[in-house]
Amino acid sequence: MRMQRRLTHLGATTIALGFLGLTTTAHGAANGDRSADVRRAIVAKKHAKNVILFIGDGMGDSEITIARNYEKGAAGRLAMDGLPLTGAYTTYAVKKGTSDVPDYVTDSAASGTGWATGHKTYNNAVSVDPVTLAPLTTILEKAQQAGFKTGNVTTAELTDATPAVLDAHVSLRGCQGPADMATCPNETKQAGGLGSIAEQTVEHGIDVLLGGGRQRFAQTVTGGPYAGKTVIEQAQALGYDVVTDQAGLDAASPGTKLLGLFSTGNMSLEWTGPGAAPYPGPDATTCTRSNPARAATEPHLADMTARAIELLSAKVKGDKAANRGFFLQVEGASIDKQDHAENPCGQIGETVELDRAIQVALDWAAKNPDTLIVVSADHGHTSQIVEAQSASDHSPGAIATLVTADGQPMVVSYASNLHGRSQSHTGTQVRIAAQGPRAANVVGVTDQTGLFHTLSLALGLE
Ligand SMILES: [Zn+2]
Repeated sequence: MRMQRRLTHLGATTIALGFLGLTTTAHGAANGDRSADVRRAIVAKKHAKNVILFIGDGMGDSEITIARNYEKGAAGRLAMDGLPLTGAYTTYAVKKGTSDVPDYVTDSAASGTGWATGHKTYNNAVSVDPVTLAPLTTILEKAQQAGFKTGNVTTAELTDATPAVLDAHVSLRGCQGPADMATCPNETKQAGGLGSIAEQTVEHGIDVLLGGGRQRFAQTVTGGPYAGKTVIEQAQALGYDVVTDQAGLDAASPGTKLLGLFSTGNMSLEWTGPGAAPYPGPDATTCTRSNPARAATEPHLADMTARAIELLSAKVKGDKAANRGFFLQVEGASIDKQDHAENPCGQIGETVELDRAIQVALDWAAKNPDTLIVVSADHGHTSQIVEAQSASDHSPGAIATLVTADGQPMVVSYASNLHGRSQSHTGTQVRIAAQGPRAANVVGVTDQTGLFHTLSLALGLE
């Protein structure tokens, strides 16, 4: 009965994918007893050779459920739903100048600093102490020092907060390129500081850097040994191949460090559809699974993830002396950005693409089980699934009605700010799920800073 319904609404390909997700992760008995799967997941090896961390920016439980309902149906499951061990973690930031006064709604910079360094900081801060502003050592820096290969992949600008927390230390997240330093005058190279996020990113020697933000790297360095060069020229001088499209990504060699800058700003959205609007909102519709503004040469997040894993594992094989694996972070950035913009199809398309990237990693981990995979978010966001709306009872914000994979209407409301303004993050706890060595550390209710320790324990770094 259930199978027939799924066949009718979803088609065979979706079902095959759904089953693949389940068979490669948690099996579960027919009666739903998952005890054996959970036991097996907990007694995995002590250390991971490789760690892949997926972050859905703004991907709270609402965003996951909206994407699942739309793409798979209410009874369907996403690839990320198949991870056997799941918990919730708290995401709050702290007020600037304090180490323990909570700021209940975090931004991506403070939350990312939490898992990148194990320390809370204030909103807008990138891996610096909230009181002293001193740089905090990141998990990527620790992994590099121990001989792991490293990668940082995002659909945002590579200088945006979530990628930056791994490879930059700056008091304000807006200081992204050498020409963006007006609010961080004491942190420029001339002033004896660490420089912009773009400069710090290429100076870290990360093996694979893939994302958007070419405009930041095209800016001219104003101090230090690379003054007068663009950050792209600086990267080339430091040994990077710089590529700008899918063909360049395909042709990249594991023998060289790779900087892929596939867009001037954020990378293009996957899907399009009507923006949410005040009641009654746009007519019920489905999303368009393409974006005319997206160039065919621009890689998708799943492509970037597959290539990053290929290149990093080839580098690992080519460096037997180090005898270490790799650490890779992959961010689906525009779930958040489209939540801010009241764009449900944009938001769902980005969530589904992140899920495709997660499936790539799950398939790879099926053959490389000494890999810890973690899937989480940095903070909750505004979108909510609400009841059918009427003239007397409706959201005070913006709504859109989407026809889901079940063939049913789903009303999505955006009401954490006035319509047309940037919708607000929310302060809710968010999901964290994992499989592989030390995955059990995500179970229960933890804090975002605990993920730093989960990652370092898995990599054998503490
Ligand atoms: Zn945001």
